[in-house]
Formats: sequence, C-alpha cells, structure tokens
Amino acid sequence: MSGTLIVGGGQAGAQAAFSLREMGYNAKITIVGSEPHPPYQRPPLSKAFLTGSADQESLHFRKPEYYVNLGVDVLCSRRVIDIELGGGATDMAGIARLNDGGVKGFDNLMLAVGGRPRRLDIPGAHLAGVCYLRTIADAVKLLDVLEQGATVVVIGGGFVGLEAAAMARRRNKHVTVVEVGDRLLSRVVASEVSNFLADAHIRRGTNVLLGCGVTAIEGECERVGGVRLSDGTLIPADVVIVGVGMTPRLDLAESLGLETADGIVVDAFARTSDPRIVAAGDCTVMPNPMTGVGLVRLESVQNAVDQAKVAAATIVGRPYAHTSLPWFWSNQGDIKLQMAGLAEGYDQTVLRGSTSSEKFSVFYYKDRRLVAVHAVNRPKDYMLARKALSQGMTVPPEGVADEAALLVPTA
Ligand SMILES: Cc1cc2nc3c(=O)[nH]c(=O)nc-3n(C[C@H](O)[C@H](O)[C@H](O)COP(=O)(O)OP(=O)(O)OC[C@H]3O[C@@H](n4cnc5c(N)ncnc54)[C@H](O)[C@@H]3O)c2cc1C
Repeated sequence: MSGTLIVGGGQAGAQAAFSLREMGYNAKITIVGSEPHPPYQRPPLSKAFLTGSADQESLHFRKPEYYVNLGVDVLCSRRVIDIELGGGATDMAGIARLNDGGVKGFDNLMLAVGGRPRRLDIPGAHLAGVCYLRTIADAVKLLDVLEQGATVVVIGGGFVGLEAAAMARRRNKHVTVVEVGDRLLSRVVASEVSNFLADAHIRRGTNVLLGCGVTAIEGECERVGGVRLSDGTLIPADVVIVGVGMTPRLDLAESLGLETADGIVVDAFARTSDPRIVAAGDCTVMPNPMTGVGLVRLESVQNAVDQAKVAAATIVGRPYAHTSLPWFWSNQGDIKLQMAGLAEGYDQTVLRGSTSSEKFSVFYYKDRRLVAVHAVNRPKDYMLARKALSQGMTVPPEGVADEAALLVPTA
C-alpha cells in the first residue's frame, strides 16, 4: 500500500492527516509541503505575530514528534511538481514527482495546495518595502520592514489588510488604508458593518481612504517612498502592505485535467472532477454548504478544517456531505468581528446594539429567515445565532433590535 499523499501542508492538509488517523485509516500518510515549516496556523500572522507576541513555533499545530507518533511523514521544503495517474505497471493510483527529484507513489491523492496572495501589477510593485502576507516568511519580512519604517500604506481594505493596519497602529506607525471600493469589505458585510469598521479604524488613528485606486508605487534607490493614487495624490510610505486577495493554486489540478473555476471544483464530498482525487481548503470551490446551490470559495479555517474532514471520510469510504455552517472571525486590534452563515442575497438586516458603543450585531434575513449574523464585540449574539443557523433554525426579526428582548430561535 502506498497510502495517501497530501499535497500541501497547511490547515487543510494537516487536518486531513489527523482525521484519517481518527477514522482508523492505517496505511501510510505523507504530507508534502513547500514551506520550510511543519503545518502551522496563518490567522496569527496578521494579528499577534505582527506585534511580536507570538513566535514562529507557537504557530505550529503540532510538534514534529506528534507526526512521527501518528505515522505521518511530513516532508517540508518540498514541492510536488508533477503527478501521473494510472500507476502503469504498478497497482498504485499514481505517482508524484517532487522538486528534489523524489518520487512518491499513492493510492489516494488529496490536493490541499491553498493559494498565493494576488500580486499587484503596477509600476513599483517590486520595490523593497512592498510586502504581502500569507506565510511565515512574509510575516517575518514584514516585521523587519516595520521595524525600520514609520509610515505604512495598506493597499486593500479586506480582512488581512485591516488586521495588519490595526497591528501597525499598535506599533505606533502612521497608517493609511487605501480601498478601491466605496466601502470596506463591501462583498461580505452590510454597510452598517463597513461604515462601523471605517469609523473605528479612523478613531484609532488610521487614515481610511475609500474609492481610491492605486496607479503606482514610487520610490528611490529601489526602496518604496510612496503610493500614487488614481487622483494623482502621493501618499508617503516606507512600508506598503498589499492585501488584495488570494489566487488559488491551480497548476497541478490543471495539469491533471481537473475542472477548475477560480478554484478546484469539488462536490459536497470533496471529490474533484476525477473522483479518485479529493481537494480541500482555499484551493477549492464547492457547492454552497448552506444551500447546495452555486459554487463558493470559502477562505477560512472553519472551511479548511471541515472540508478536510469530509475529504478524509471520502478516502476511508464513509463519505458524508459538507454542509457545515460557514463561520469566520477577524480580530482588528480590539475590534472582534465574528461571522456565521453567508450574508448573500439577503433582503433585510436588523441591527442589535449600537455601532457607537462598538458592541452590536447585524442579523441578515432572506424571506424573513436568518441567513447570517455579524457580531462586533457581542459574542453571545454570535453564539446564539450560529447555533440556530447550524440547527436549521431562525431567529425571528421582530424583537432583534430590542436589546432587552431575549432572542429565541424558532424552527
Ligand atoms: C494573514 C492571514 C490571516 C488569516 N486570518 C484568518 C482568520 O482570522 N480567520 C479565519 O477563519 N481564516 C483566516 N485566514 C484564512 C486561513 O488561514 C486559510 O483559509 C487557511 O489557512 C487555508 O488553509 P489551506 O490548507 O487551504 O491552505 P494554506 O494554508 O495556504 O496551505 C497550503 C500549503 O500548500 C503548500 N503547497 C502549495 N502547492 C504545493 C505543492 N505543489 N507542493 C507542496 N506544497 C504545496 C503551500 O506552500 C502552503 O503551505 C487567514 C489567512 C491569512 C493569510
């Protein structure tokens, strides 16, 4: 038995290995990961790590001995460059070639290759001082340039950008967030939340510029000096953090002829268009787990974990559909945003609490049924709504706005 080969040693890859063993899978498991670290968590990279309160080792899910005891081979700093299916003369399902010349046979294959930060394609994007934030290496580099710089421009007002901006403010940097949309996070949160976040960051000393494109990064002697906006303004900067989204890694899937659509297309059982191959995490698009309709990519720890469990169940022959409730959190300094469900296609929002108190929740409804909640510093609302959503229940919109009213989920 050649066992299971997991390509990618991130959240999804590690979870799949743990789940396979929990499900009684006792053949060989190999994780090949291109980074020089054992699997680690990324969320702290834009949070505690940037203030220096988390070190690299604290990010690792498990110590190397844990994998040894579990019988999981973790090959770090190795990249799978080619995969051949079919096995030819052998009875294996396929073989994978690694960049160091190694070859790994497998019976089961899982792609958990994640994605890379979307790069800016504008003049000056290559200058020293321009940083992205996806890996430990990126975060170490960013910490280093933050040490030396005083003025930070964050391009992109998404979660990673806003979290990094909050951390740079904590380090007393002069921070500007430049967002091309007319409000922050416009695709994922209601305007109440967008407006609150912009105001809250401004209150904490961050300059937030909305509706501003960036045309160039300028500098001298190959070092960044400023960011040129589409209206011609130059914002001085000695550090630029680019947070304009992620691009899923599709090269291996495409070379295998798998269906892709801005992500590796998988079904609810984490099977790719070749049912011999499963995939999970940020690299995939899958049926909306709440409705089963349409394809979504959910870039979150919850999804990577739950989908990896589904993939492991498919591998061991006990498949179940991935229908778990999406949830996500974003800590932007002391602003704790918790989100459950998917705020898509809603026709009503109800605010509970007040944005000025910095403690509020927005309940999202479609045809009077709760589809999502976004809670800022209100964990109780979040937990109640998340539980209701995950049990297929709703919270009637009447009464939600009344803070004194007890919220009671109904069928
Ligand atoms: C800065 C930051 C903050 C975040 N904060 C939050 C948060 O607060 N809450 C939340 O829910 N989510 C957060 N996320 C998202 C979350 O971390 C991701 O959704 C999750 O890590 C996805 O896991 P993954 O295993 O799919 O992909 P990844 O973690 O990207 O892992 C994929 C791994 O595969 C490797 N790889 C790729 N190709 C190959 C190959 N050919 N051979 C070998 N290895 C390969 C890559 O190098 C990478 O190490 C954050 C992400 C970032 C970057």
